[in-house]
Amino acid sequence: MEWLFDPPAPPSLAIAGRPERLPVRRIWCVGRNYRAHIQEMGGDPRRDTPIFFAKPGDSILQVASGTLGKLPYPPRTSDFHYETELVVAIGKYGRNIVPDAALEHVIGYAVGLDMTRRDAQRAAKAASGPWELAKAFDYSAVIGDVHLAAEVGHLRQGRLSLSVDGEPRQSADLDAMIWSVPLIVAHLSQWVAIAPGDLVYTGTPEGVGAVRPGQRLYASIDGLGSLAVEVVPP
Ligand code: MN
Repeated sequence: MEWLFDPPAPPSLAIAGRPERLPVRRIWCVGRNYRAHIQEMGGDPRRDTPIFFAKPGDSILQVASGTLGKLPYPPRTSDFHYETELVVAIGKYGRNIVPDAALEHVIGYAVGLDMTRRDAQRAAKAASGPWELAKAFDYSAVIGDVHLAAEVGHLRQGRLSLSVDGEPRQSADLDAMIWSVPLIVAHLSQWVAIAPGDLVYTGTPEGVGAVRPGQRLYASIDGLGSLAVEVVPP
């Protein structure tokens, strides 16, 4: 077969302590998964299913532990928000997965930032339109080293935190998630097939806020190390 042009290299992620890279397929994100964050956004925490949205696979910006990543300030926003999240990496294909079997499909975990054009999201919500471009843009899926579940186990609890220029902004325990990782995987797999290389951002706790060029974000989750980025001018 001959290509019309060279296909792009698949997006991929470094894995802590391993030479192999994890190829990225799809990126799914859970909205509204911590009660206090739903309240700060003016939403109603009583829901019977999780909500999902997506980012392109090539929107990832991986930052190795111990380094300072550069996160370009995106165009078309003046309210660029961080959302610190546990990211789940899928390692096994599945559809209609039952919660008890869901963790068999999870190969690893990482610290992530679901970067958001909050002004564009608000405008889209007000217009009852899609908020795709508030969430799915270049470098919007920031992620740290992937840690394999075989090494760190499956995370049910642990402190997630974020500081900006040394000031604490987000702090919560993973056990405060409304939809646990097994429930997220089970629900998502009712809507779409999940497959190796899919990432799932599992939602952010309260304390989201805006950042400007020059500011430094430091995110961490117990057991997964940390992620440091500086917002840089476009
Ligand atoms: Mn989010």
